[in-house]
Amino acid sequence: MAKPTPYTRFQKNLKTVFAHLKLTKAERSLFLEPHRILKKDIRLKRDSGKEEKFPAFRVQYNNARGPYKGGIRFHPQADEDEVKALAALMAVKTAVVDIPFGGAKGGVQVDPKKLSKRELQTLSRAYIRAFQEHIGPDIDCPAPDVNTTPTIMGWMRDEYEKLTGSYAPAVITGKPLAYGGSRGRDTATARGGFFILEELMDFDALDRSELRVAIQGFGNAGATMARFLHEAGYTVVAVSDSQGGIYSEEGVDPVRIEKYKRKTGSVAGEYCEGSVCDTSKMKLDNVQHVSNEELLELPCDILIPAALDNVITAKNAPKIKARYILELANGPTTPEADAIFEKRAIRVIPDVLANAGGVTVSYFEWSQGRSGEQWTDAQVDAELKRIILAAYRAVRREVHREKISYRQAAFLLGVRRMLEAMRMRGWIDT
Ligand code: NAD
Repeated sequence: MAKPTPYTRFQKNLKTVFAHLKLTKAERSLFLEPHRILKKDIRLKRDSGKEEKFPAFRVQYNNARGPYKGGIRFHPQADEDEVKALAALMAVKTAVVDIPFGGAKGGVQVDPKKLSKRELQTLSRAYIRAFQEHIGPDIDCPAPDVNTTPTIMGWMRDEYEKLTGSYAPAVITGKPLAYGGSRGRDTATARGGFFILEELMDFDALDRSELRVAIQGFGNAGATMARFLHEAGYTVVAVSDSQGGIYSEEGVDPVRIEKYKRKTGSVAGEYCEGSVCDTSKMKLDNVQHVSNEELLELPCDILIPAALDNVITAKNAPKIKARYILELANGPTTPEADAIFEKRAIRVIPDVLANAGGVTVSYFEWSQGRSGEQWTDAQVDAELKRIILAAYRAVRREVHREKISYRQAAFLLGVRRMLEAMRMRGWIDT
């Protein structure tokens, strides 16, 4: 049997809802492959004078409900299959939160930490030049993802406007506030996940002060979520980044960790310099060093994967102790792990719902870019809460009505909404 890939895992989730919706073969075929897979090698002249090639991708999965929309990832493991899966998840996600976009994703196979600032800017601009004819405010609007920042989005907008001779702030979202960004975009992914978690904890009548949370990934999504949870009275017991993490059963202080991460580049920066750790200080603070694999299996109530995909598998799912999993990362759980969690009654709030706050505020940014309006923090927060909780409640209704998992329910809702748009567009015989 062929080894599962991120895209075959997406297809597996998709196929579980085909039967529920009684789709015809022709209808199913509209979901099985993306509309367009664009690939180019970006040539970058390094500071050393040497030229290097980096594979770059843009996958446009579906635009039935509106322009293609999705982030751009800079990562050494970004490849065509991963970008395809992420593009498809975006289409389901925009439909779940019911915003007028389709789904796309981009990626460059590069380790941006090894680039100078000049090289990073040149590469970012080259990405837009490579795919410019397929991008535009009404066509396909990129956004940030792993290792891509507001500054990179700003360079990309500028490159697009130079190439097209237009004023087009809505071409890309996640831009700096001073250059067409929206208030609240930087915290949106975590904020959306936080609203859902709060609703779920209220529904289950749980006391925040008794809830322990472990978070894998300490970037835009993970670090912001850690701060929100800490402020709301949850105990954040563990956090990690690509170099590993720290755990304390008494709880860690995310604000302090963020300060050390900024200073040293690592979440363990207060205690360790590279692999050398001050064990006596760790003992005093009751803090332990943990690997990313260990973090997932720690004693906690809520586990939040907020880094990369495919980290929760059939191998570690039986050992996971959390009762709730909130997927801020895209694609962290395999279908095999999902099946184990269903048997163990562990509730998984899936990526297409849990991390949809990011694309929702991207939608606000896109709207502001088109209208020239500027929303306040309060407006963004209130609209995000309204949209994300409406989506959460709609998914929960399907969970109870159909007796299926949250992931199946979210896919059901998303695919049904995409189908309605496809029918209107005449892609499907009615
Ligand atoms: P980011 O680049 O800001 O942060 C990524 C974090 O993951 C960093 O702390 C990094 O050290 C850590 N990391 C990298 N490799 C790791 C590994 N092997 N093990 C553990 N940690 C590792 O990225 P982000 O924007 O926070 O995105 C994180 C996840 O959230 C991704 O799956 C992304 O697709 C998803 N997501 C992000 C947004 C958004 O708006 N930023 C929206 C939706 C989904």
